[in-house]
Amino acid sequence: MSLLDQIDQIRSTFMEELYSISSSKDVERMRIHYFGKKGTIASLMRFLRDATPEDRPNLGKIINDTKEELSSHLENTQKRLLIQERQHRFAKEAIDVTLPAEPFRLGIEHPVQKVLQEVVAIFSSFGFSVGLAPDLDTEHYNFTGLNFAEDHPAKDMQDTFYFPKDYLLRTHTSNVQVHLMENQKPPMKIIAPGKCFRNETVSSRSHVFFHQIEGFYIDQNVCFTELLELMRAFWPKLFGTKVKVRFRPSYFPFVEPGLEVDIACTQCQSQGCKLCKYTGWLEVAGAGMIHPNVLDQAKIDSEVYQGYAFGIGVERIAMLLYGIEDIRTFSRNDPRVFEQVALKYSSVL
Ligand SMILES: [Zn+2]
Repeated sequence: MSLLDQIDQIRSTFMEELYSISSSKDVERMRIHYFGKKGTIASLMRFLRDATPEDRPNLGKIINDTKEELSSHLENTQKRLLIQERQHRFAKEAIDVTLPAEPFRLGIEHPVQKVLQEVVAIFSSFGFSVGLAPDLDTEHYNFTGLNFAEDHPAKDMQDTFYFPKDYLLRTHTSNVQVHLMENQKPPMKIIAPGKCFRNETVSSRSHVFFHQIEGFYIDQNVCFTELLELMRAFWPKLFGTKVKVRFRPSYFPFVEPGLEVDIACTQCQSQGCKLCKYTGWLEVAGAGMIHPNVLDQAKIDSEVYQGYAFGIGVERIAMLLYGIEDIRTFSRNDPRVFEQVALKYSSVL
């Protein structure tokens, strides 16, 4: 068979094959079969070996032209197939915007957040404005500026998370007092919600991570009675019902005199139950008149200005309001639990 006959035969088989293939993988297979080192076109080189030197250039040109012609067909087919494949893939991946959306559950507001917001709203209605301070703070703002003695047990590593360079995680929101007193001038009437951290064993009653709301008022002629009146007014507003409030003397380094605020047990109406440890009362806040040392350290003249301060444990209040018995419930963040709580106590807040 002559070279030209052979080429005709190759061309017709090639074209037949080309029309029948349906993927770019087939194109690769054809490329190797026809144009590979040991492929069909390479086998035509034997005609060159057998040809006379005069015929050789002409035959070489015919073989090359054939190679170019066929490979250009193959390239075109490959382009067409790649486009088809891409369109097919896009069609498969396309999003049908007319389909109905998957149903999804709305999140439930965290009980701690609810209490924080409610408490801040009540104090705002009493004329307090919100103040903030860092969670990661220094010993000065967390202890020294608040009149803690050098050897106070709260400064112990057992109780406080320390970091290099005198930093610590604040153990109470009272650091807000020092920050704001150093940067503002009285009168100041501040409510400061925030996170606190203590190096304690986690149990159903205590956690390493919790929330407090600090409040303080500094001005001329602020008196102790005002603090007592504020505490008497606040709790009934929060619980939405009459609440009996009582005060007991207590000690905190940054107040003098200091007191604990108790409310009549909301669960047993002071009859005595497990929640109130059969005392009929629940501790809900610490408070007192700001110690003159705290004012003087922040360069506020304690001869001219006085102030009161109070701190409320948020988780404790949320536990009372929502009947949650384990403080760890708040950090487990199970939306199903919060959903139940929200349904059961939807009338509380
Ligand atoms: Zn009780």
